[in-house]
Amino acid sequence: MALPVPGGKSSYRGRFAPSPSGVLHDGSLLTAMASFLDARAHKGQWLLRIEDIDTPRVVPGADRIIMQQLQALGMQWDESPVWQSQRHALYQATFNRLAEQNLLYGCACTRQELSWGPYQGTCRNGLPAGRQARAWRFKAAPGTEYFHDRWHGPQQQDVATEVGDFIVKRADGVWAYQLVVVIDDGDQGITDIVRGADLLDSTARQQMLARSLGIDYPSTMHIPLLLDQAGRKLSKQNHAVALDLAHAMPTLNKAWQALGFLALPETSPYAFWQTAQEQWARRFNIRCLA
Ligand SMILES: [Zn+2]
Repeated sequence: MALPVPGGKSSYRGRFAPSPSGVLHDGSLLTAMASFLDARAHKGQWLLRIEDIDTPRVVPGADRIIMQQLQALGMQWDESPVWQSQRHALYQATFNRLAEQNLLYGCACTRQELSWGPYQGTCRNGLPAGRQARAWRFKAAPGTEYFHDRWHGPQQQDVATEVGDFIVKRADGVWAYQLVVVIDDGDQGITDIVRGADLLDSTARQQMLARSLGIDYPSTMHIPLLLDQAGRKLSKQNHAVALDLAHAMPTLNKAWQALGFLALPETSPYAFWQTAQEQWARRFNIRCLA
């Protein structure tokens, strides 16, 4: 457990990092709620990061609406939000550092040339004659990455054989999620990641990248995803509806129950969060002095 720092706050720093390709829906509220509760239960900080780097998918104005949705449900972040779209210089500088360590290489493979499964390292020792680099890959170190996930328990992955060298800059020039999330978590001093289980498989790659950059990789908790009737992850892409803010308590309780708790009788978001954070702390055995 993190030791408290003066002022009664623990050193815990968590974050919620939505991509503004749409507004929040029941699925993304689940992640917001879990990360918020975990931060509050630890008496820590909860930061907001807008992951708007994938510009073709960004919906103008969605970031503002996401903030309004969070505030309407009583979820207030503790520091100024960060927009990834304003951090290209940081990403470029970090990319350069990795390149100087000889940990990156250009890859000319097109989607059609890549077989399903791990990248086979086709371009690792230089591009085939006459070919141009399209994307940039990180050289996965041999060996197994181990980590402990607070929801799923001990995890391991041999990135080099199971994933292969992975992309840090895409063929369309966009920084890859795996790179920027590690840079941002390091830069913002994040100690604890709480996010959806679809990212559990990315964790070993991110831990490896973090080590190369001298960043302490945060502790992780990957919460279950909310699925639609067809068993697919609820997302903007499959038309999840926006949150019902006119009925805040049912909206909050629906997410709370999806996290495995019993609906709370509280009649205001403030009271809801008080009770919910106590129950969260008990369930995950979080004890804080603050
Ligand atoms: Zn290649």
